[in-house]
Amino acid sequence: METSADLLPFPKPGFAQRAFSGLFDLLYPPHCFHCAQPLPDGPNKYLCDRCFKTVRILKGESCPRCAHPGKSPTGEDCQFCRTRTLRFDAAVAAVEFGDASRAIIHALKYHGNMPAARLLGGWLAAALNDHPMRDSNLIIPVPLHRSRLAHRGFNQALLIAGTLSATVNKPLHDGNLRRIRHTETQTRMSVAKREENVKGAFSLRKPVLVAGRSIILVDDVMTTGATMSECARILKAAGARSVLAVVAARA
Ligand SMILES: [Zn+2]
Ligand SMILES: [Zn+2]
Repeated sequence: METSADLLPFPKPGFAQRAFSGLFDLLYPPHCFHCAQPLPDGPNKYLCDRCFKTVRILKGESCPRCAHPGKSPTGEDCQFCRTRTLRFDAAVAAVEFGDASRAIIHALKYHGNMPAARLLGGWLAAALNDHPMRDSNLIIPVPLHRSRLAHRGFNQALLIAGTLSATVNKPLHDGNLRRIRHTETQTRMSVAKREENVKGAFSLRKPVLVAGRSIILVDDVMTTGATMSECARILKAAGARSVLAVVAARA
């Protein structure tokens, strides 16, 4: 893993962490993230079979340009991004944002649930597995503004990106791309309003570290893509060769 004095490397799960996670499972037997029913022993430690069946895995079933869920994965047919200028080169979403995936993302985002981060990071690794841009060589999470980070205590995108980094064995840089302006919650905004809202909200502390690199930009959810597009614009302005936007869930 690459490190730099000013950048925070994300630790890989070590023996102690794995042992602790085993102990945690013993003390608190796993429950389904969505319906909360106890889960039997088995490979699926996060969702019961019934809830897992409702998760729509998007592999091969989303727009390659913006990851919008759709039957035919051809950029030209996508109603969503046809009229947009998106600054990333391609986008991948592991799953469609639905009831069960929302429950997992909320467990991570509002409760810092690490098993949820590992699940989502694992899904991302699987989604990237045969992507044409899978050789991209540097993982960067979408940053939170320091006031939101202080309030929440962690950046959910970093937690997902950390699992992805450990799984696919690619370096992760956190702390270089920064959110320098606090932005309003975008939930009720139109696409145009969201693009305006995030304009100039990001900067790079050390632009030279992304020059010539192929970036995997990671976030938990993509709705309109405005935030990731603005991050990609900053990365490209600093000389990044390409930016692949990767999210756990696509709304
Ligand atoms: Zn369930
Ligand atoms: Zn699209």
